[in-house]
Amino acid sequence: MFSLLRGRSVIVTGSSKGIGRGIALRFGLAGCKVLVVSRQLSEAQAVADELVAAGGEARAFAADVTRPADMAAMAQTAVDSFGGIDILCANAGIFPAARLEQMTAADFDTVIGTNLKGTFLSVAACVPAMKSRKSGRIILTSSITGPVTGYPGWSHYGASKAGQLGFMRTAAIELAPYGITVNAILPGNIATEALTAMGEDYVRKMEASVPMRRLGSVVDVANAALFFATDEANYITGQSMIIDGGQILPESLAALEA
Ligand code: NAP
Repeated sequence: MFSLLRGRSVIVTGSSKGIGRGIALRFGLAGCKVLVVSRQLSEAQAVADELVAAGGEARAFAADVTRPADMAAMAQTAVDSFGGIDILCANAGIFPAARLEQMTAADFDTVIGTNLKGTFLSVAACVPAMKSRKSGRIILTSSITGPVTGYPGWSHYGASKAGQLGFMRTAAIELAPYGITVNAILPGNIATEALTAMGEDYVRKMEASVPMRRLGSVVDVANAALFFATDEANYITGQSMIIDGGQILPESLAALEA
């Protein structure tokens, strides 16, 4: 049904595990050349090896999204290895919890610095290569937390994820004349190592709060990212897609249980 993405060059930040790994594997399965990026090279290498073993083309690259020099080197590596950058999935993110009374200025800066400033730095590093070819797809991993919902302990996280959407809207206007789209995926509660590490009790409560009564899979999220990268999505920019099994829909517990 959709156009083939075979041969496209993709960078996925934060793709050594979790949602990013799912996105990297999904694009790799679609025949894309994938640069797997995380701070720990060995973990990124394992994902790249997995893709190569499955017959794909992939490279691992160690980079921290909070460092402009790392992001410049990441973009250059994709250009040198794959001949350009067609798609950037700016996915790297962290979600340490701290309630307002305990949250320090440093906690706030760390979350904003990784999730929001890291988004800006990764996008800014890739834009010149996309502009030179007058095409590109930028897909940000935001969240339902912040743009749509709140959760105690995550005010800094929610601010960073809502901030990504503010960044996206102006970036989409600035880059539209160059054939570059900027869109966001907003996952709900997705079964990743990091989420399941929050404990059985958290997972059960989350499953119960989703109308589909299950957590999302990384493939559910990766499919949405893949859609924004297709040729068929070329007139969609500055938009966001929620992948949450209906989690944000019930207006009350009664609505969920009725
Ligand atoms: P995860 O399993 O903890 O994976 C995070 C990835 O990001 C890892 O590859 C990690 O590798 C990398 N990373 C972290 N800090 C980095 C940095 N400064 N520079 C480069 N890479 C960095 O997390 P996840 O659950 O998959 O979350 C991925 C994204 O989805 C985040 O943006 C998160 O906000 C969003 N999200 C997740 C959920 C969910 O339910 N899981 C829901 C909504 C939104 P290294 O540590 O080696 O760098």
